Amino acid sequence: MQVCSGSREEALVLLAAFLPKAGTSYTRNRNFDLGAGQHKHVSQLSAYIKRRIITEEDVLKKVLSAHSLNEAGKFIDEIFWRTYFKGWLESRPHIWMQYCADVHHLTHELQTQSGLRDRWAAACLGETGIDCFDAWAKELAETGYLHNHARMWFASIWVYTLQLPWQLGADFFLRHLLDGDAASNTLSWRWVVGLHSVGKTYLARAENIQRFTNGRFAPKGLAQVAPPLNDTASTMAPKIIDPPNPYLEGRKTGLLLHSDDLNTAHLTQYSDCIASAAYRPVDEGTMLVSSPKLLEFNNAALDAATKHWKPNLLNCCDVTTPEGILSWALENKLEQIVTPYAAVGNTSQMLEKCKHLLSNHGVQLTQVMREYDIVSWPYATKGFFKFREKIPKILTSLSII
Ligand SMILES: Cc1cc2nc3c(=O)[nH]c(=O)nc-3n(C[C@H](O)[C@H](O)[C@H](O)COP(=O)(O)OP(=O)(O)OC[C@H]3O[C@@H](n4cnc5c(N)ncnc54)[C@H](O)[C@@H]3O)c2cc1C
Repeated sequence: MQVCSGSREEALVLLAAFLPKAGTSYTRNRNFDLGAGQHKHVSQLSAYIKRRIITEEDVLKKVLSAHSLNEAGKFIDEIFWRTYFKGWLESRPHIWMQYCADVHHLTHELQTQSGLRDRWAAACLGETGIDCFDAWAKELAETGYLHNHARMWFASIWVYTLQLPWQLGADFFLRHLLDGDAASNTLSWRWVVGLHSVGKTYLARAENIQRFTNGRFAPKGLAQVAPPLNDTASTMAPKIIDPPNPYLEGRKTGLLLHSDDLNTAHLTQYSDCIASAAYRPVDEGTMLVSSPKLLEFNNAALDAATKHWKPNLLNCCDVTTPEGILSWALENKLEQIVTPYAAVGNTSQMLEKCKHLLSNHGVQLTQVMREYDIVSWPYATKGFFKFREKIPKILTSLSII
């Protein structure tokens, strides 16, 4: 994947190049994984969409200006898979919290159980002896990207052939994928092991891998069965998504940018901000570190966004912790901080901590939700196919069609 600057301009160039392929070509070819540097049948926009360098709406509008809804139906479905996962997890934050706790616990087990550690290390380094799996582990580490089909096969082999806990695989992905996303990643891994569509699992089969990699691989010794896992998190009731604090007019306000949404176009109405800051965490990985490539891309994308949106970002400085955000607010005598809404994940946990610190000093944290999320997320209550029925309604509400 040729990711360089993480800028909006770069994303728009990628989108323009992909546009002719977003219709019937995508429907026909999207499942073929042609290998690193050859992913020409898919958009490779995920690292940009994840940070909203370009938004789902930007992509949908462009695609629907070039193709009919019917022609681009498959591609549009995939954009909405992301939307669905985000909305679904938003009303079930306990699933994310449970995943984080599991990873924490398993990371300790890696230190004490040498058998588990050896199998995990071989999988992460691509030294299992399973040709396709080893190639994907290396491709992921080197490029920060894997084709969707490869992610499905990889996750299935990780759990059912290598007998490793799914949470460690999801963590390995999150520490390497440039598009690593709390909702899409956690829920896709859960989907593979039968925890999302309860009881339905995904088994990677050698013939399927051979066919959709154009014969590049002929894996041997793959598991022949994929029994579903179960857990208690799946049975807990969803919660109503709390509306964020409303914006307070006439207060001394600062603008906080973060990597869950690096696009301030929807914040221009708050142009009376007197200061701005960019949240630049050192590493959001678990006890294990994220790949240098991911950290580099995070920084590049943040740099590109602060440059692109400079007119909206007065005296922009970096902040690295919730305590740093508090100091910045106090130094600038802020009464309110406005920031794009962060969906369930690391940034939202950080903002929650921030909210409490700030409120002790009389400063309100105001998260601004996008219309796209407000309109779409309430439909993400059951399975994707129920949600999918609402796509035309969502597109109409947003005046995209
Ligand atoms: C185990 C596993 C883990 C995954 N982890 C992530 C993750 O951390 N972050 C992430 O963005 N996607 C994740 N996905 C979904 C999917 O693999 C990627 O979004 C896709 O491969 C990105 O490549 P692309 O931009 O070329 O996709 P395209 O095929 O060009 O699709 C366009 C956009 O639609 C969205 N999209 C496509 N497929 C999916 C999908 N199945 N689920 C959700 N959104 C989708 C992405 O935003 C993508 O950029 C995961 C899938 C699996 C099976």
